[in-house]
Amino acid sequence: MAGMEPKRAVLGVDFGASNLKALLVDSDARVYERFIEPSEPELGPEHVLKRIVALVNRARRIASTAGLPLTDVGIGVCAPVNHSKGELVESALLPGWRDVPVKAAVERETGLRVCLDNDANAAILGEWWQGAGERCAIVAGLTLGTGIGGGLIINGRVYRGGWGFGGEFGHISVASEPDCRCGGKGCLGRLASATDTLRRYYKLAGEDAVQVEGMRGLARIAGMGDKAAQQSIAVAADYLAKAILILVNVLNPDVFVLAGGMSLAGDMLLNPISDYIRSSTFKTLGENTRICAARLDLYSGCYGSAWLALSGDRSLP
Ligand SMILES: [Zn+2]
Repeated sequence: MAGMEPKRAVLGVDFGASNLKALLVDSDARVYERFIEPSEPELGPEHVLKRIVALVNRARRIASTAGLPLTDVGIGVCAPVNHSKGELVESALLPGWRDVPVKAAVERETGLRVCLDNDANAAILGEWWQGAGERCAIVAGLTLGTGIGGGLIINGRVYRGGWGFGGEFGHISVASEPDCRCGGKGCLGRLASATDTLRRYYKLAGEDAVQVEGMRGLARIAGMGDKAAQQSIAVAADYLAKAILILVNVLNPDVFVLAGGMSLAGDMLLNPISDYIRSSTFKTLGENTRICAARLDLYSGCYGSAWLALSGDRSLP
């Protein structure tokens, strides 16, 4: 039962370096519309914010046709967020973007309440709400894309840590090199992202390399028996397993979710990680921690932003 609260709609936006996606959903997670278009961050913050506002206006018309008020907007962005100011801080993926007041700008133009978070938190939150996390108490996960993001969800709330750095699992060190922009060495996000795995494939395959269409293409040729592709995914699985073991020991999550492009490698990635976890920690912990691929495909982040909007962003702390 949804309770006595009147039904309403929210828009969950996922602003990535390549795509701007959004889902118009109601409080029962029924989807009324999906939007996906190129995000064009190189054209600057003003351009992208205008397009987000245009999406909100389109969503508002569709919601109104369905007889629902659009009340809130959640936005996940591919950059760290200053939560007290509602600003996108800066990102290597978004040259020229710095301290952009996303929350205030979209609220001013639409008159709706806006919640903001980074895209990895949003993706794992989305998987908690409607995906592989199945609303378990403790859901942790990684987004494996251009880089690696992390998220920790406790009873449906994003854990942000003391001052916003909580859940940055991509900076767990699993090797002695290379240097990372965080100041550390051998960070997971520099060794096991989709970008790294593709680069490693081309290096391993050498002259025999075939041009593949992203991780989807790499997973496909690995499935057909390509040795270099299989080896590249196995190396990534090895690094991921080391970091996930640390997280499993520290956090004891009910479910650990792998989202983003790399999760398309499916069992080729999940099986070696699950085997490693099972054989490397307390028996009960290793056998009962579920390591899963995301279930919401391209829309994990949109679902998470939508949940932020629906729940009024009750993050931790
Ligand atoms: Zn780092």
